[in-house]
Amino acid sequence: MTPAELAAVAANRSNEAIPPVSEIAPQALYDKCMAMARNLWWSWHPEVINLFRDIDPIRWRQLDHNPIALLKEFTPERLGMRAAEMVLYSRINYAYRRLKEYMNFKQTWAATHAGVLGGKPVAYFSAEFGIHESMPIYSGGLGVLSGDHIMSASGLGVPLIGIGLYYDQGYFRQQLDQNGYQHEEYLDTKADCLPMEPAHSPEGKPITIQIDTRSGRLLAKLWLLHVGRVKLYLLDCDVDGNSPEDRELTSRLYGGDERTRVRQELVLGVGGVRALRALGIHPGVYHLNEGHSAFGTLEVIRERMKFDGLTFHDALREVAQQTVFTTHTPVPAGHDRFHGSLVEEHLGPLRDELGISYEQLMGLGRVEPQNESEPFCMTVVGLKLSRRANAVSALHGHISRRMWAHLWPWRVEEEIPIGHITNGVHIPSWLAQQMMQLYDRHFPVNWMRRMGEPEVWQTIHSVDPGELWETHYALKNQLLAFVRRRLSRQLRRRGESDDIVDAARNALDPNVLTIGFGRRFATYKRASLIMSDVDRICRILADTERPVQLIFAGKAHPKDEPGKQLIQRVANLRHDPQFRGRIVFIEDYDINVCRHMIQGVDVWLNNPRRPLEASGTSGQKAVLNGALNLSILDGWWAEAYDGTNGFAIGHGTSHVSDEITDQRDAKSLLDVLENQVIPAFYERDVDGLPRQWIKMMMNSISSLAWRFSAHRMVMDYTRSCYVPAAGGLSCDMSMR
Ligand SMILES: *Cc1c(COP(=O)(O)O)cnc(C)c1O
Repeated sequence: MTPAELAAVAANRSNEAIPPVSEIAPQALYDKCMAMARNLWWSWHPEVINLFRDIDPIRWRQLDHNPIALLKEFTPERLGMRAAEMVLYSRINYAYRRLKEYMNFKQTWAATHAGVLGGKPVAYFSAEFGIHESMPIYSGGLGVLSGDHIMSASGLGVPLIGIGLYYDQGYFRQQLDQNGYQHEEYLDTKADCLPMEPAHSPEGKPITIQIDTRSGRLLAKLWLLHVGRVKLYLLDCDVDGNSPEDRELTSRLYGGDERTRVRQELVLGVGGVRALRALGIHPGVYHLNEGHSAFGTLEVIRERMKFDGLTFHDALREVAQQTVFTTHTPVPAGHDRFHGSLVEEHLGPLRDELGISYEQLMGLGRVEPQNESEPFCMTVVGLKLSRRANAVSALHGHISRRMWAHLWPWRVEEEIPIGHITNGVHIPSWLAQQMMQLYDRHFPVNWMRRMGEPEVWQTIHSVDPGELWETHYALKNQLLAFVRRRLSRQLRRRGESDDIVDAARNALDPNVLTIGFGRRFATYKRASLIMSDVDRICRILADTERPVQLIFAGKAHPKDEPGKQLIQRVANLRHDPQFRGRIVFIEDYDINVCRHMIQGVDVWLNNPRRPLEASGTSGQKAVLNGALNLSILDGWWAEAYDGTNGFAIGHGTSHVSDEITDQRDAKSLLDVLENQVIPAFYERDVDGLPRQWIKMMMNSISSLAWRFSAHRMVMDYTRSCYVPAAGGLSCDMSMR
């Protein structure tokens, strides 16, 4: 072709219908990004997370990984420019298509196994939901479990609606001062930067719930969130018409006194049931996740009396048939108990409508209905007003049956109607991207849809040990980078010298055996157990051939003074020259800190005082990423450990004296560390690989990942609780 012809062809081409990619309407692109940001589905899809991060990596981190807050800093035009620069167009289109496909997918597990729930969904009540760090309406394990439950319900297609509270200040942010003492900071979350919208009635009107008490009327508005296919509704008392005090009723999670708590639980339970009615939703099943929402059953009874003309007792029997109750704590003091005057103040008007006496109402919350000195216990209501009750691990089931045996004095312990469904975790939320890629390469295609099947996970044994080890090593380095960043930031804030801040930039060593301990600093979790014999642990950490390093994180409840002192003790070890450089404390444990820790440590340590850990789930998250558990035989680990898939502290026994139990466990912990963990980690073959260790990682993944997944958990709930409660054919596998 002549130059002129070439020019003509080029000119012609540029006139064609398809514009250069950079000119696709920025507004359309922006809208697609916003649509993805407004469904928390994005939070368990690494390709979408990467996409948001690539828009502005620094702001992404600063904004707590909140895509709505990030997008709000961009105009469509600027986003368009950034997308052109980073070649994001096809990635955005692809991710958006995946969301659409996900939302429209019909051949789900529940479509074949839980048809009876169609049109009669499960209403799942929980005081907290932990879905992602940018949505701070959780404090710890209970919330994260609820979040994982609804994400798996979405994945399996189980018709389920979440009901919770919106806390505009959430749970506190933790900062330690120079002395290692915890300070709490409450930050206002901006509702307009969260993926929520006001919920509307079927007629398109915004919804406000009213609850009359003896001391006045309480109002709450309703927010809607999309968590994949699941809708989550949150009640919020910050509305016109409430007193200034009541506007703050739902501002903090577990804040305030007993009266605040009873009022929050009134809004969650009774308000939650009224919200469902206002939405035109008729649940087939009510699942009370912990006793906080148990007042709701009384409201359902009222509805049945009013709309179906049932007597109180008939309504109670029918509602109990539809109610599933999960108890979460083996600690007697951990169950909410309210004084009669608070119950009457808040449930009096409802009681009038139910036509029952004060004593009858109180009787529902008492082990001995006639015992006037007994307070009103939410767990007792939950147990009495449900036909299906469960604990959250096999051991916890056993403890709960014993603990509540006096509710059924005519039955032997084995016949106490509390079963168990062991907790599990939502795999896509906790699995590191690199591990996901490794599984993608080796596991059967569509393994993600078959996460609850054991066969899928057997494949790990055919993975090259070197590849698994390299992946783990990369994740460990990622954790250390995170720790260094956080450490230098927290030290700078405390006004430490430049030398100390600089030293933090090189803290820890990727070649050293790294143990993580991240959890609430409640006394029974014994965070400092490993330090019981100071000389011995010093020797272990400082060994020149085979050293060990420890990463701690965790919050203490604001009113838990002993817990705060425990934090102080651990955090201040950094001043002790014997420990220097081998122990770090990362502030503000949350989903993000937890995720980094369980993805990068070699060993995840858990040493509660048996049997006080109902289940525990963080160790299950560690499994997925190849970390090995070193744990007391309590909660889920008591049924998970088989001698080849991790390490056990003690023999699953405890002494009547806490002091003796603690001494024994502390000794056993250090014995196992010295005799099993350290040798296995440091024994290397000619290629520098710890063969025995890698074998244990594989055993851990193949034997535990599917069993302790939230998919398995939700399938168990569906088959043994939801379907029968909704009146479907019971395939009761007796929950034990
Ligand atoms: C998973 C998780 C928990 C629960 O873990 P435990 O094993 O029960 O301690 C608590 N807090 C956060 C932030 C979590 O991610």
